[in-house]
Amino acid sequence: MNKSVEQLQTVRETIAAAAAEAKRDEASVTLVAVSKTFEAADIRPVIEAGQRVFGENRVQEAQGKWPALKQEFPDIELHLIGPLQSNKAKEAVALFDCIETVDREKIAAELAKETVKQGKAMRFYVQVNTGAEPQKAGIAPQETVAFVERCRAVHGLAVEGLMCIPPVDENPGPHFALLAKLATEAGLAKLSMGMSGDYALAVAFGATSVRVGSAIFGSR
Ligand SMILES: *Cc1c(COP(=O)(O)O)cnc(C)c1O
Repeated sequence: MNKSVEQLQTVRETIAAAAAEAKRDEASVTLVAVSKTFEAADIRPVIEAGQRVFGENRVQEAQGKWPALKQEFPDIELHLIGPLQSNKAKEAVALFDCIETVDREKIAAELAKETVKQGKAMRFYVQVNTGAEPQKAGIAPQETVAFVERCRAVHGLAVEGLMCIPPVDENPGPHFALLAKLATEAGLAKLSMGMSGDYALAVAFGATSVRVGSAIFGSR
């Protein structure tokens, strides 16, 4: 069997076990397979094995491989999980189905404008900088609830959840807990958290989607 397909199976089993442990339905956790840096030829076997939700962190890179794959497999759902420049909002809305990295007013306004213009049913997450790291994207935790409200009320964005990337050198548990608490306060049901090293833990903390790259496709 293809190595990535084998590893996809293992990741699925780990998610199912973590969900069972947390007394959650495994269907309540969506696996976002992060295919950044990998080419269409590497991704195709994973699609053929039934995976349909994928994550990419660069608009330009995604434009090079996904339009053809999406045409061939129209039920693929593509998530943007990397920072977005406002001059790329048009391309991002055209290619992606869900943008997980809304984190400032300007990008919220651009995305809202493009969504209306393109008449597309887009889904959005607000990225939260749970570790308050100066180099990292995301809205500050204490500004999150008000920002989500503005995204909805002022811009009309269909924000469905929150997303975070915990600091690499810290126990992610408290960051997952903080994201879950903020989502409850903001009235949001979806939590995108957990990567290859910590997705089982994220499921225990209530993740509704996990973004797993290297554990499926191998190291980058
Ligand atoms: C690359 C990336 C991932 C996947 O990371 P792995 O450790 O390879 O699973 C998840 N989320 C974001 C935002 C990423 O950029």
